[in-house]
Amino acid sequence: MARRRKDKEMAANVRLMKRPEREASYLRATLKGVALTFRHMVNPHKVTMQYPEEKWALSPRWRGTHVMEQHEDGRPKCVACGLCPAICPANCIRLVPGEDDQGNRYPVVYEIDEFRCIFCGMCQEVCPVEAIHVGQHYENSEYTRDNFVYDLDRLMSQKQPSTLLWDPSDPASE
Ligand code: SF4
Ligand code: SF4
Repeated sequence: MARRRKDKEMAANVRLMKRPEREASYLRATLKGVALTFRHMVNPHKVTMQYPEEKWALSPRWRGTHVMEQHEDGRPKCVACGLCPAICPANCIRLVPGEDDQGNRYPVVYEIDEFRCIFCGMCQEVCPVEAIHVGQHYENSEYTRDNFVYDLDRLMSQKQPSTLLWDPSDPASE
């Protein structure tokens, strides 16, 4: 019963358009469209962002392209503990650990597939030595999927600031 009433109400709102019987002119519609464009051109309250000349100011909590922190001598800070690939929900971190003569662990291979990554930030949160970070960056488009796989050198060459996963002045994200 209620369904029938709803159908009736919906039918009452349907506007039937008749096909024109003679050949229609699109001139009027075109002029209306052009007038609208000009109205927007002179509108002082434009909302279109003129990218790439203008760019969005990102939130300090923005999670984007990763950054691998490094020591002053250029070595990555990662100690190949294996926590970030274990916790990554997208399974997009590949780590091959190694160990030097002094027993220090380091990543022989460390890669992140930025295309598969969902930018949850858990790798940053779990890292015991604060080596891997999600960064305040979003301009990482590529022509091929392979180019989205960032190796260690590429991760270390990222210069964007790291994300503040939570804002100390707003811990409850209000
Ligand atoms: S941000 Fe999340 S999905 Fe992306 S690499 Fe880190 S843990 Fe994986
Ligand atoms: S959690 Fe940190 S130290 Fe451990 S493998 Fe990942 S980046 Fe390296």
